[in-house]
Amino acid sequence: MRLSAMEPVSRRAVAMSRVVLGLYAGVAVAGTHWPRLQIGDPNHPVDKMLHFVAFGGLAFFLSRGRYFRSTWALLLFACAWIVLDEVTQAVPGLGRSFSVEDMLAGWLGAGSTALMLWATRPLRLPIARLRRERFDAVVDLVLSEPSRFMALVASAAAGVTIGMPTAIMLNGVSETPTPVQAGIIGLVLGGLAASFVYVILAVRAMEDRMMERTLCLGCGQTVGGEAGPCTACGRTPLLGQWFPMPGLAPSAIVRACTPPVLGGLGTILFAIIAIQLSAGVVGTSEPVLLLNEWLRGPARGMEANFHIVLLVIVAALTVDRCRNRIAVRLEYGSRTCLGCGHDLRATSAPKGVGRCGECGAGFVRVEAGNP
Ligand SMILES: [Zn+2]
Ligand SMILES: [Zn+2]
Repeated sequence: MRLSAMEPVSRRAVAMSRVVLGLYAGVAVAGTHWPRLQIGDPNHPVDKMLHFVAFGGLAFFLSRGRYFRSTWALLLFACAWIVLDEVTQAVPGLGRSFSVEDMLAGWLGAGSTALMLWATRPLRLPIARLRRERFDAVVDLVLSEPSRFMALVASAAAGVTIGMPTAIMLNGVSETPTPVQAGIIGLVLGGLAASFVYVILAVRAMEDRMMERTLCLGCGQTVGGEAGPCTACGRTPLLGQWFPMPGLAPSAIVRACTPPVLGGLGTILFAIIAIQLSAGVVGTSEPVLLLNEWLRGPARGMEANFHIVLLVIVAALTVDRCRNRIAVRLEYGSRTCLGCGHDLRATSAPKGVGRCGECGAGFVRVEAGNP
């Protein structure tokens, strides 16, 4: 999407994300083309995991740059980039070479990011869609301020600084420590977790400010009241934009997510047991022998990538089911109060927003045919 087609707040947020994408892409290209780069212990080569993480990250920052409308288009572009990156490594003098295995590692990384983007995509149910639109707009409002954007970068850096040594330390107690691999995983998880926490806290603070000062989500200016489009930028306010939007109670979220989480854990357990049990039966068959030979030879270090992909698939399906179950419960919030369970069907909601007569919690009602 072109920057000029965006509203001022999004334009600033996306412009800064694209700067980060540019820096990241520069480092990734330099890293994959650096002459005769050799990292870590040759018995546990780390290059497959580096390709996985580097291109998974590229796909993530591409999505933040909002160049693509569909995740498929983004994935296709990232995969083409990976092919080009690998082909140009065959340039004489770099001391590096074209490797199908490195390319596969990159694709798996980009594919994992695409799966998580799918799992966190906007859902179609009206209330869920409204809440997501509001959340995304408030995130843009947060990131449109350079100081907050830098605070996010600093949080991610702090997460990396804590995550890396922690993972290396935890890995150190195993019988065959692989510190470089553990460090990379700790770096990614630490950075993601810290960024996530910062965004959630900053969004809460910004939501309060938006409601208190009736900020427009298009331009960030104070506009008066709920009526009509913004006089500064023309954006129409979301339904109940300056109205507290109660969510599900924590206990209801736990109830909604317990079955999917148990299902996910069960799937992982089942997969481990199935692999252990079948190893003796199929372990000597021709395809498995070939696969093992490949994993010990050119694909050395790839096994960890396959494990991560399997985990990501289970995690994506779990997140998707959990989000859908929460969305369905939120949809009933205009009929049964999310705060106290009071029947709201007789309670009026002028302009789509109302308050529960029992506990005072707010609710949003999207009329049929008027989404
Ligand atoms: Zn505006
Ligand atoms: Zn109530």
